[in-house]
Amino acid sequence: MFDYIVIGGGISALLSARELALSGARVAVLEKGQFGRESSWAGGGILSPLYPWRCRDEINVLARWSQQIYRQLAQFLLNDTGIDSEWRQSGLLMLALDDRNSASTWAQTYNIEQQVLSAEQLKHHEPVLSGKIEATGLLFPKVAQIRNPRLLLALRQNLANLGVELLEHHEVTELLSKTGRVTGVIAAGKKMHAQGVVITCGAWSAQLLFAHDINLPVYPVKGQMLLYQGVPDFLKNIVMLKDCYLIPRADGRILCGSTVENVGFNKDLTEEANDKLRSAAEYLIPELKDIPLERQWAGLRPGSATGIPYIGEVPGLANLYVNVGHYRNGVVLGPAAARLLADVILDRECIVDPIPYQLDV
Ligand SMILES: Cc1cc2nc3c(=O)[nH]c(=O)nc-3n(C[C@H](O)[C@H](O)[C@H](O)COP(=O)(O)OP(=O)(O)OC[C@H]3O[C@@H](n4cnc5c(N)ncnc54)[C@H](O)[C@@H]3O)c2cc1C
Repeated sequence: MFDYIVIGGGISALLSARELALSGARVAVLEKGQFGRESSWAGGGILSPLYPWRCRDEINVLARWSQQIYRQLAQFLLNDTGIDSEWRQSGLLMLALDDRNSASTWAQTYNIEQQVLSAEQLKHHEPVLSGKIEATGLLFPKVAQIRNPRLLLALRQNLANLGVELLEHHEVTELLSKTGRVTGVIAAGKKMHAQGVVITCGAWSAQLLFAHDINLPVYPVKGQMLLYQGVPDFLKNIVMLKDCYLIPRADGRILCGSTVENVGFNKDLTEEANDKLRSAAEYLIPELKDIPLERQWAGLRPGSATGIPYIGEVPGLANLYVNVGHYRNGVVLGPAAARLLADVILDRECIVDPIPYQLDV
């Protein structure tokens, strides 16, 4: 018997389990495949919503909370596990914004450091950018990134150190319930009991609730990415132009993202995405044409109607909770979303108002 069973093995599951374990609870995490191999692995690790001034407040409130603790979290995990998640303040440089004034006003309101770079200044600041880009840049120098696959490895090791039961190849196929209360799950054909169950299954989260006539409006949104080899310090900042971003890792690799495709649970890689991403990347940095492409991959973001995640208790089934639907922001929102969930479950004072994140069925 566990205090809590957390279903899923991505960033939402691992951080939620961590918060519950830190409160002294006995926790099990059940993943249908391998830990940290789905959307959380596929993501870019930018620790900011892409255009925060265009996002709903409910997203930015969680993002700001996470941003304040991410560096400490990465440092803690490094000390505890020896795994470096590569938190780096690489800055986010946004080019040719149509709504630069809104962006600047937003940054002033929240006291976020910003720097406007003229087309001429851009040439000195990021010399690898194409000379054809006659645009103004808006730089947010404090925006950080994290190497999400490494963060997942570190979290997993930290959970093992905390005594959390980590079970791979344990697909949950059914929620067990009695008189309106969830009492456990069936996973890998076995019954497992707990006082509380948390669904953190990313894009797959709605499926477990169908059988209980509960509609969770979370659906898959495919994103494809490319990885270029590159050399360290070739590109300084994360650079964004329209739908395309480039993320320079510490070892010089450059990620290029990402497509947004509504094609259900299909994760096939396509030539079309490859061409689209390559041409956008190589328009920004012509030298990328000569740099080998190492890999292409796809992940399924957990989409929700507004991009605001659902965090809290599921109405109609006591002891059942969700932390799902973070869409394009699951890495940056992760620590705050997990803390808020634990605050709700453990009946503590919440870090932010929980009401906007409640599932309304
Ligand atoms: C291309 C791309 C780029 C992105 N870039 C960024 C970024 O730069 N910054 C950012 O903040 N976010 C980014 N995101 C979004 C972010 O990655 C997601 O929001 C986040 O990873 C969602 O995490 P999750 O744990 O909810 O889902 P997932 O990581 O998908 O994990 C869900 C897990 O649940 C498991 N599961 C499902 N059903 C069951 C079941 N019945 N039983 C047991 N296990 C089950 C799955 O196998 C999976 O491992 C990006 C996403 C993509 C695809």
